[in-house]
Amino acid sequence: MAKTQRLDLVTPEKVVFSEEVEFVVTPGVEGELGFLPEHTPLVSALKTGVLKVQQEGKTFKVATSGGFVEVKNSRVVVLADTAEREDQIDVERAEEAKKRAEERLAKGSQEIDESRAEAALQRALARLNATGKH
Ligand code: ATP
Repeated sequence: MAKTQRLDLVTPEKVVFSEEVEFVVTPGVEGELGFLPEHTPLVSALKTGVLKVQQEGKTFKVATSGGFVEVKNSRVVVLADTAEREDQIDVERAEEAKKRAEERLAKGSQEIDESRAEAALQRALARLNATGKH
């Protein structure tokens, strides 16, 4: 049996995931950060992107936005603004959100909040990436 660590994936809405896993890769602001059990303690900010989890030899993906990761005592805690496992993602909704954000950004007028549209685009792209539809 491979060694495991606890992964807690929490948003303001709910606990998305709380189980033993072998390996976690998070989308850190300065690049991907991978954690095996007994990793040294660490806190890092996360960017909107795709988190990868290996559990019982299989890998699955989670789209996350914002937040941070804390690693301590073989426990990885991810506190994110939003998080959806790949099998929970509504692809059509993400495609529509992507289109809306792209249209807003293309207009580029003063009427749009560019950083908000950019953040929405990044969330939509992360969701599509997690499902392999992008
Ligand atoms: P939309 O414009 O489609 O609402 P959004 O990026 O503005 O997308 P968020 O504010 O990030 O949406 O998320 C609101 C809630 O909806 C969160 O609980 C998030 O997990 C969920 N959610 C958003 N998009 C999807 C999706 N494509 N599939 C599944 N859940 C989603």
